[in-house]
Amino acid sequence: MKQVFKSSCPLNCWDSCGFEVTVEDGKVTKVEGDKEHPITQGKICGRGRMLEAKTNSSERLTTPLKKVNGRFIEISWEQALDEVAGKMREIKKIHGPTAILHSHDYANNGLLINLDKRFFHCFGGVTELVGSICWGSGIEAQTWDFGSSFSHAPDDIFHSKHVVIWGRNVARTNMHLFHYLQEAKKRGASITVIDPIFNATAKIADRYLSIKPGMDGLAAIGVMKYLIAENKQDQTFIDHHTIGYHDLLALLDSIKMDDILAQAEMTFDDIKYLASLYADGPTSTYIGLGMQRYANGGNTIRLIDALVAVSGNIGIPGGGANFGNLQVGRSFQMDGLTLPHKKAASRQFPMMNQAEAILSAKNPEIKMIFVTCGNPLAQVPNSTKVKQAFESVETLVVVDHFLTDTAELADYVLPTTTVFEEEDIYYSSMYHHFVNYGEKLVEPPGEAKSDLWIWTQLAERLGFGEAFHMSRTEFLEIGLFDLNKHGITLERLKKEKRLPLPVQHVPWETKEFLTPTGKFEFTSSLAEVKGYEGKPVYLPPKESSITNSALARKYPYQLLSIHPSRSNHSQHYILIKALQMVKIEISEDIASEKQIEDGDSVTIYNDRGRLSGIAKIMKQAHPRTINVDEGQWHKFGGSVNLLTSDGLSDNGLGSVLYDCLVNIKKSIG
Ligand code: SF4
Repeated sequence: MKQVFKSSCPLNCWDSCGFEVTVEDGKVTKVEGDKEHPITQGKICGRGRMLEAKTNSSERLTTPLKKVNGRFIEISWEQALDEVAGKMREIKKIHGPTAILHSHDYANNGLLINLDKRFFHCFGGVTELVGSICWGSGIEAQTWDFGSSFSHAPDDIFHSKHVVIWGRNVARTNMHLFHYLQEAKKRGASITVIDPIFNATAKIADRYLSIKPGMDGLAAIGVMKYLIAENKQDQTFIDHHTIGYHDLLALLDSIKMDDILAQAEMTFDDIKYLASLYADGPTSTYIGLGMQRYANGGNTIRLIDALVAVSGNIGIPGGGANFGNLQVGRSFQMDGLTLPHKKAASRQFPMMNQAEAILSAKNPEIKMIFVTCGNPLAQVPNSTKVKQAFESVETLVVVDHFLTDTAELADYVLPTTTVFEEEDIYYSSMYHHFVNYGEKLVEPPGEAKSDLWIWTQLAERLGFGEAFHMSRTEFLEIGLFDLNKHGITLERLKKEKRLPLPVQHVPWETKEFLTPTGKFEFTSSLAEVKGYEGKPVYLPPKESSITNSALARKYPYQLLSIHPSRSNHSQHYILIKALQMVKIEISEDIASEKQIEDGDSVTIYNDRGRLSGIAKIMKQAHPRTINVDEGQWHKFGGSVNLLTSDGLSDNGLGSVLYDCLVNIKKSIG
């Protein structure tokens, strides 16, 4: 029998699409877009469609695995759970609970995926990861400036006179914003794209501005200097709703326009053009993730925020410094699900340099790593060290669908379910404000079990089973509890499938900010409390000719690692044969300098590592720029993270993945 059900994309993506999923004879046979979804309107990307192939893949893990003498053997759930629980109990007794590290990432946007935290909190607290490889610096920067990171509702773009897409290739990573952009353009808005790569979004722009990677904050300084010199700043907003403006002026005065143009590799005309857009609002700014993956990443986002504030484009329809949309995730009652008060002990490692932290941990040393929703071997910077760290612990447990690079290293691999094999609700704290319902549509293959089932079974064995003596429905109701007063209940969500969350469509409209002073803070008091410089400053990238000319001579090219178009991070490489090779994209000037042609075998290298692959020449990329899409598995040629640094961004919570210089040569043989 053939039936079509509404469901949701669970992938870590801006768009949180609504699906229509065809099920025939107990098998998912097609994934399409739900035309009735208010935002995503029937359009989905290949990554979402691929969830059918993922669910039905013959590569799926279907039984628990244990490594014995270097080889995996299949074992029963009873044995796997007894042994993992036994090891956890013993480690806690001898070394304390923080000798276990919970390494996680964001592979699944389901609400109940957060129950992993409930499990580890009730266990007594383990060593946790803080920060985010993906967007940590930007979120922290906006928290310093605004008090949080909120975006405007998707259709608010139609109030914008000008739209600036700053470092976000929305055609690839945020496809519904791309459609809104096209519509905004039809309605008369101008579109400007600032990016080191002339990407698919740039093709629909009225103007494309090329910029040297990592210099976006400097460009924002240039625009503010010009804007203020022309007396086009919004002095009323500045006087009534901000603090630290004098510190900002001091910074702007300290940097010469000629230096800005030379270092950002932009023209004065580019700066004047941008200033004219910001002075002629409402102008909305959509900020990407790549530019904050530098040692100056937080600083970069702070300076773009400052430009949006100085020009009076905050708290008005059609304006905004749109980065994350944390008000979406905060709509749910997360504490009720995760029980943070149960955590008796706690230790935190930065996500970026978890490998170094694991290797150097004392009192206690890390004895076990428990990996959920992630493939750190492919995704965490400095792969060589990550492998060393993950190999160094006594027990590595991985919950996954496939034998990923990380799972290959594990002592126990526990097979889990996909989105269509369990009930959950889905949302993304990045763009729109709709929550989607996804029911269980098919049975999982073999003995694969949901994460919730795994936590319940382990909790039972570890003596806190009562914390999981609840049905999936009861857990979902806890998560939705705070929303009930707005009429959002599980019953209604099950019926209507998608509901809008009660968030602000134009954030900061009241000009009341969530900072300690209640104002927009050019000088951040929160930063100062945390021991960082609160005044606005300009920092260049750490690996650049400005900061390290010797390094830049040895490794003259800037390596980016942008999101792949066909995989959600590392998740789809196993499913697409054509992706199972390393593609090294180079700018035209590098191709001519090194006499490299499309299809040549090349190697990129720096002091941290090397990676070989096939060259592809990028049209209109910024000179001296190389890109390798992130997420590639080591078993398919190697992750770009063999070359990236595990350093921390300037505000401590982000990665420096793009702050990476390399050289390139043709491979021999
Ligand atoms: S990956 Fe993103 S754009 Fe693609 S289907 Fe999923 S939510 Fe939609």
